[in-house]
Formats: sequence, C-alpha cells, structure tokens
Amino acid sequence: MMKKIEHLGIAVKNLDQSAKMYEALLGKPHYKTEKVESEGVTTMFFQIGESKIELLEASNPESPIAKFIEKRGEGIHHIAYDVDNIEQEIERLKAEGFQMIHETPKDGADNKRIAFLHPKSSGGVLVELCEEKKV
Ligand code: ZN
Repeated sequence: MMKKIEHLGIAVKNLDQSAKMYEALLGKPHYKTEKVESEGVTTMFFQIGESKIELLEASNPESPIAKFIEKRGEGIHHIAYDVDNIEQEIERLKAEGFQMIHETPKDGADNKRIAFLHPKSSGGVLVELCEEKKV
C-alpha cells in the first residue's frame, strides 16, 4: 500500500550552492548528507512536515543525475512514495503493467529500501518506491 509522498528528489549541479538556497527557501537547515556510491549521487535531506526534499548531486560524470541535468537541466527528478511492503508493491505494479527499473529492492539513502519505475510506463515521471528499513 502507498502511504504518503515520502520525498521529492531534485537534481542540482552544486549541492553546496543549492543547500544555501533551499535553507533560505525552507527556513531550516538540512538534517543529513549521504553519499550513495551505487547510484553515483550525493544526497541532502530536508524534513518538511511528513515529507522530505532530497537534493541530488552527481558524484561522477557517469551518474544518472549528471545525464539528467545535461538533458533537462536542474529541477524535479523523481517523486518517491512511502510503501509498507515494497516487494508486494513491486508485484502489484508489475501486474498493473508498469515497467520496473529495479525488480528487486536495493539499498537507498536515508535508511530505505528502494525501487524505481521506468518513467516510460509512468507518464514521464520517474517514480521511486521506498520502504523504511526495519531495525
Ligand atoms: Zn529519492
């Protein structure tokens, strides 16, 4: 089941510069910076009520974020939904005809297991599913 919008992912060229702008915009500091080596990104998180803003900076030129910015410029990169059972949700979406980029969940930033849907099957919007890791 989808529970809420967990976060919006925003692609930025320079995390330090964008951090200043977002701190001014949101009126609060970020609470976390985290490198996700497997995705070639450095992430920065802001908590806004129940949801978050995730800034994404490429950590190498081959990063999907570098390619996204090259093609489309800075801006909204993906929308992430909080789910309570990510395997079940992947199966449900596949049965609905959606195309998954990740058929099995992988480790993401901020203590999550994640899976992306292909934007071709979701109206041009990159969609991320995320489930909080249970400790
Ligand atoms: Zn995300």
